[in-house]
Amino acid sequence: MRSTLGEAIEQTKASLLTYAQSHRHWAIAYSGGKDSSATVTIVAHLIETGQIPAPLSLTVLYADTRMEITPLQVAAMKVMEELRARDIDVRIVLPEMDDRFMVYILGRGVPPPKNRFRWCTSQIKIEPMMLALKELRERVGEKILMITGVRLGESAQRDARIVMSCSRDGAECGQGWFQEATPEAVADTLAPILHWRTCHVWAWLTAHCPDLGFPTLDIAIAYGGSDAEEVNARTGCVGCPLASKDNALQAVIRQPSWSYLAPLTRLKPLYKDLSFNHSNRLRKVAVELRKDGKAALNPQRVGPLTMEARLRGLDVVLGIQNEINAVAIRDKRPTVCLIDAEEEARIRFLIAENTWPRGWDGTEAEGDALIDRIFRDGTMQPLLADLVSIDLGGVTA
Ligand code: SF4
Repeated sequence: MRSTLGEAIEQTKASLLTYAQSHRHWAIAYSGGKDSSATVTIVAHLIETGQIPAPLSLTVLYADTRMEITPLQVAAMKVMEELRARDIDVRIVLPEMDDRFMVYILGRGVPPPKNRFRWCTSQIKIEPMMLALKELRERVGEKILMITGVRLGESAQRDARIVMSCSRDGAECGQGWFQEATPEAVADTLAPILHWRTCHVWAWLTAHCPDLGFPTLDIAIAYGGSDAEEVNARTGCVGCPLASKDNALQAVIRQPSWSYLAPLTRLKPLYKDLSFNHSNRLRKVAVELRKDGKAALNPQRVGPLTMEARLRGLDVVLGIQNEINAVAIRDKRPTVCLIDAEEEARIRFLIAENTWPRGWDGTEAEGDALIDRIFRDGTMQPLLADLVSIDLGGVTA
């Protein structure tokens, strides 16, 4: 028989009570998504009502990627305001400037992430959170209890995906990774809503939290409004290049009050163009030797974004941002911030300084240039045009 929300909350209480004895300092990893919103609010509520003892300190760490879908970001800000009003310490954690999503791509020239090159989850979510957690650990001088919103789903297949990482269907990108990555010395990790079903989460966020003063109704909008439970969309970065469709964004812009965010749908095609249109990238031409003296596996691989592609990408992103914000300001709606003024200045500086990722210096060939093919063993297959030229005794056909 399936448990009720009341029973699920009792189980959450029991797991928190167990750990409350052994850890005096707690932290909650908050992403603004439905599971972590349910987690921060249930923990705050249980403490406030005396159902679990308050720890010596409770810190909510919010990972600001700049790329979260707008209604979720807005809802997260409101929830954090409410938490602060209840004397809970809330901190916004940002990646280092050059590691931020847009700065990394457009300033440092690293192509957008994809399945076999997923640099983003750890860099913009996990690492900044781990750093903040380590700092907290040093400040309080003892091991932290790190509370996450990881939940097990209703199928083994989905559970495996949750544990692995950036899962689809209702999970938050990186939540499983964080659980896995937290080193034992810094924190013990507890997932007190592990057993909650999706319907428990929605019932809590939409039917109970608002009565308790938590502004969580907007969260449902990012997951499909009144159909949220059915849509159960995966949330994460807007335009995530790894997701096949931008379901969460589509659900959001179907709501009349958020339709002005439609220009965000241009992000995904931009990422695709930057990654897969090789004229936007450079390519190695010579055989490079690795440390072991062997040739690199893919000697003529395509690599970073050209300066022209980066500047064009910057124009597109700023154009999207300006277009949305003009309407937002006119209609008194929330604005978006994909790239702030400091990040734009940093991107332009890195471009002006001719910055390339490690192992590249900008002298490589353009990604779509026709070049002789070189294999790992050093042999070369000349271009067909060269062969024709040779056959004709040097006279080009
Ligand atoms: S949502 Fe997509 S782009 Fe964002 S961190 Fe996860 S995998 Fe990367």
